[in-house]
Amino acid sequence: MKELTRKRILVTGGAGFLGSHLCERLVTQGHDVLCVDNFYTGTKDNIAHLLDCPNFELMRHDVTFPLYVEVDQIYNLACPASPIHYQHDPVQTTKTSVHGAINMLGLAKRVKARIFQASTSEVYGDALVHPQKEDYWGHVNPIGPRSCYDEGKRCAETLFMDYRRQHGLSIRIARIFNTYGPRMHPTDGRVVSNFMMQALRGEPITLYGDGSQTRSFCYVDDMIDAFIRLMNSADDPGGPVNLGNPHEVSMREIAQRIVAITGSNSPLELHPLPTDDPWHRQPDISRARELLGWQPQTSLDDGLQHTARYFRARIEASSEASSEAGSEAGAPSAPAAQRPALT
Ligand code: NAD
Ligand code: UDP
Ligand code: UDP
Repeated sequence: MKELTRKRILVTGGAGFLGSHLCERLVTQGHDVLCVDNFYTGTKDNIAHLLDCPNFELMRHDVTFPLYVEVDQIYNLACPASPIHYQHDPVQTTKTSVHGAINMLGLAKRVKARIFQASTSEVYGDALVHPQKEDYWGHVNPIGPRSCYDEGKRCAETLFMDYRRQHGLSIRIARIFNTYGPRMHPTDGRVVSNFMMQALRGEPITLYGDGSQTRSFCYVDDMIDAFIRLMNSADDPGGPVNLGNPHEVSMREIAQRIVAITGSNSPLELHPLPTDDPWHRQPDISRARELLGWQPQTSLDDGLQHTARYFRARIEASSEASSEAGSEAGAPSAPAAQRPALT
């Protein structure tokens, strides 16, 4: 890559699900990538294939502490994302979102780097407006079990906007809707990983509530495309941009599709709906379409096929090493058994 276009890019949370795909894409494009992660939920396995690349570097670091490096762009993804992970140590979750944002914004300010924030559709909470547009202020419980994540991300957005207004920083905020694909943690408790693991093992599919609640799922490759377009867009969006796939499905439907795609016989098993579980979620992506010329390309069935191949390979690898008791993919997939890989 020409020196003029080649950038030094920091990816925090780069060993996680989305971060590892982003690092891979940026390394392939020829940029110098610094991946910073404390391995709270991410793993070295996710980026093992990049370790030998001369333009990839890995640093173990917790973003709640200051970081002094020289870079041109910062993607701030560090934060546990699945409900069981972010609720495991809620105080640390808020610190990661808020102190992490302050440190990364301070770094961006010092080195004059453009900075991208991985925000979330959770800033809309249990939305009263459907589909959700960026100008909706949200309906969030500030004191519930999901609040550490939702309010942490909302405060991070506030900080990003204030560093922009007060210090003239060049910022990008992506409000990411549910994303799935290879390298999701098999025991992270999220719906796609749970249902995939359960279906492939012939275990009951744990459907929470009556399964009529909806989400809109975006395949990871489409999301990474959007990240890079948003970061590099010439026009300043001036505020957050929704990124996601507007194709909305109920949890019952996604269960049935996963059972069909994996050729499983797993029955559906109803469980109580978790507290404050949002009822509907669907992005209005008009802004992303207009600003970035982007929209998702991967159909749900294609994306689920790719994801099923990944989980199947993990299960096979783990049964080959079956003597190694308690390996990740071999662990029970019931939510109660799930904990982040604490460092
Ligand atoms: P993930 O849990 O796989 O990745 C998060 C990464 O951040 C992990 O590698 C973890 O070890 C690291 N991390 C956590 N706390 C840290 C800290 N204090 N210092 C350094 N590293 C830390 O989750 P993901 O799905 O890849 O999500 C990435 C980002 O995208 C998160 O900020 C999340 O909130 C956001 N997001 C994801 C989705 C989704 O559907 N995947 C939806 C909305 C928003
Ligand atoms: N910071 C950092 N790396 C840098 C510059 C700053 O981690 O290269 C952190 C530092 O911990 C600081 C925070 O970012 O507290 C916010 O920085 P800012 O300059 O905005 O504020 P101040 O230093 O006045 O607190
Ligand atoms: N869900 C489910 N069974 C599971 C895991 C999740 O029915 O085993 C439901 C959950 O109640 C929610 C939806 O699937 O309504 C999406 O959950 P996830 O944790 O993946 O993401 P989020 O709630 O953060 O959108």
